[in-house]
Formats: sequence, structure tokens, C-alpha cells
Amino acid sequence: METNLELVQERVESHIDTLSTFTATPGKGTTRLTYSPEDLQARQYIKEKMKEYGLTVREDGFGNIFGKLEGTLKDAPSVLIGSHFDSVPNGGSYDGPAGVVAGLEVAALFAENQLTPKYPLEVIALVEEEGSRFGGGLMGSRGIVGLLNEEDFNSLKDKDGIYAVEAMKEIGLDPSLPKKRDPKTMKAYLELHIEQGPILEEKGIPIGVVEAIVGLTQLEVTVKGQAGHAGTTPMDRRADALVTAAKMIAQFPQFAESEGEDTVVTTGRLNVFPNGANVIPDEVVFTVDIRSGKEENVQNVIQNVKDLAVSYSHNGIEISVEQLLYIQPKRMNQDIVSLLKKKSSELGISKCSINSGAGHDAMVFSDFTNVGMLFIPSKDGLSHCPEEWSDSRHIANAVQVLYEAAKKLTEAE
Ligand SMILES: [Zn+2]
Repeated sequence: METNLELVQERVESHIDTLSTFTATPGKGTTRLTYSPEDLQARQYIKEKMKEYGLTVREDGFGNIFGKLEGTLKDAPSVLIGSHFDSVPNGGSYDGPAGVVAGLEVAALFAENQLTPKYPLEVIALVEEEGSRFGGGLMGSRGIVGLLNEEDFNSLKDKDGIYAVEAMKEIGLDPSLPKKRDPKTMKAYLELHIEQGPILEEKGIPIGVVEAIVGLTQLEVTVKGQAGHAGTTPMDRRADALVTAAKMIAQFPQFAESEGEDTVVTTGRLNVFPNGANVIPDEVVFTVDIRSGKEENVQNVIQNVKDLAVSYSHNGIEISVEQLLYIQPKRMNQDIVSLLKKKSSELGISKCSINSGAGHDAMVFSDFTNVGMLFIPSKDGLSHCPEEWSDSRHIANAVQVLYEAAKKLTEAE
């Protein structure tokens, strides 16, 4: 049986519109913090739809929602499809929900076509991906794979001092339910997410098959020089920390360009000491944020920054480089990447490879199961704002691709 794209698109629109009404800031975007009254409203809607689509609903000890279609194989691992349903303050209607809704619609197609999978299909809706209430982010997925233990979870508080466990109970959730999930119970994890960048829209391509979620490295560079009077110190006698820092920073774009493959390098914070208009700066501390889908590119940039530091450490200037953060790029599962591309082609939906410049729940799952991810275009590349928008047609396209991939992965007939 053919899937009815128009019908899927209509339902996608209706889900997105309904979910967007569950906001603490009506008229000012979606504000849906974890375990808030709006979380409860969205949760009830998602659970209701899961049941309507023939899924068995359960929640875990973090409040993550699972809707399961049993498979015929006994104790077989599930193919998970979903995303998160929390938001940043005054965010949009698509970051997260697009993926949850896509999961729901894949389940709807399984039901409509009366498919019986061998491996279970599980639609999942995750809490606290954004970290807007309890900080850190990726809480739901980290919890599922066991990266957030009971003790750490119990100590989580929001900015008003409310404990996560208390907030859970407030909306009727049970923190004593099972939390961690054995990776053996997961066969694959598929996620649709909005791109949150301009690439797909500019190329006019409706589907991006994610190859990797970029690694993130943060360096902190400290340049020490010699303070002096701005009027009385001759130019050739200066050890100006800021001039040196500026020379270094000016070369970073070239480091990124020479690596290519979407490598980006950013200096977003710079502190100048003593920061007086008539004093030669004796110390500058700045950050270097390096991202790439390939670890090799990240390593090369780190080395270039370090070499640069050595080459400028003379004539009274001393430079040190400290690594504050290092998160490896995560490759998506190659078989799933190929499967998603193949299904897109078969459906006549044009697609391209893309890297994700932002972290996602898929990144967390990638160390524990086989992960695949799709992006759809974001209007003007915008996200985390009320203007965030994606075409429901593109979500419906992605649903078709995910449905075909899920049929294959669950061995449904
Ligand atoms: Zn998101």
C-alpha cells in the first residue's frame, strides 16, 4: 500500500500546531521546560497519539516516553525513532517536536498498513535535551544509556532550587520507575531533526542524511605580556598581549579553511587585562571553539593553534594553551546512512550528506546502538527563536524515508 503523503502532512501539521500551544509564553514562542505544566500537556497529547496509533505506552524514571509496537521475535531489541519534546525559553515549534511527530507518523503508517515487525518499533519522546531547566542538556538520552546515574539525577535542581525529582512528582511522574536501559534492548535509533542552519535551504534539498555530529573542542589561550604606559612606552619596546592575541585570532579562519569539510573555528570570548584605555594590555585570555565532523581536522587545528602560540612566544610574550573541552565527533552508523540514502532515492526525494554542527540525543545513543539521523531545512537557518519554521511537507517526506528504513530495520511485513 502506498503512503498518502498529503494525509501524513496534514497530521504532521496538526501535531505540530497542537504541541506549539503547550507553551508558557503564548505569542512569544514555545517555552516548554521539563516537568512543567506545559510538559504535562504535551506529554498527554503524545501518549494519547501513541495509543491511538496502536502503541503500548510507558514512561521511565526520568519521564521519557516510549510507545512500543511489539515484534514477533521474543525479547528482540527495538528500533527506536524519536527526539525530544522540551524547548529552550521562547524557542520554536520544531526543534525536537519535528522528530517526535515523525516517530508518531511512522507508527501510524505501520498501523495503517497493518505491518507486523519482527523487531519491536518504539517511538520515543525525550525530556530535557536542551538543558533549559536543569542544565547540561541531553538528560533524557544520557539517562537511558546510563551516563546520568541515580545519585546525580537526585541532586539536580533548577534555578529556583526545585529538585528534578520533586518537579517530576508535581506533574504526576514516578522517579522510582526503571531508568537505565540495557543497550542490548536497542537495535537502532533514528532521529529526525530540523537542521538549525542554512545549508539545505540554500541548496534547495529537502533531506540531509547526517554523516557525523561534529566534535567540540574548546581551548583557552592566555597571552602574557608587559603592562606599560600607552604614552611613554616606545612601540619597539612593547610586549603587547592584545596585539599578539589579535595576530593569532586573525589566522584562525585560515586554519578552518585549510582543513575544509565544514571545519569551523571561532573566538567568541576575549578578556583584556587590565582593560584600561591608556594601559598596554599585559594579559589577554581568549577562547577557541573548534568543530568538525572529522577528528583529524580538529586535531590539526589544535596543533596549529599550539604551534602559533610557540611561534609568538618571544620578546617578552608568553603564551599558554589549555584544553577546556574535548568531545569527539560521532560518526553515524554507515549501514543506516546508506539505508537512509537508498530509501530517499527510491522515493524520489533528493538528499545530500550533511554534518550536524549541534549536539543531539542521537550523539548520546551513538556509543550504545546504531544511529541514523535526518535533517530537514530550517527557514532562514533560524532556530531557538519563535521564527523557527520548517515545511510540514519536508517532515512528511522524512516520515516516508524513516518509515521505509524502519520497515527494513524491524524486518516488518
Ligand atoms: Zn533539538
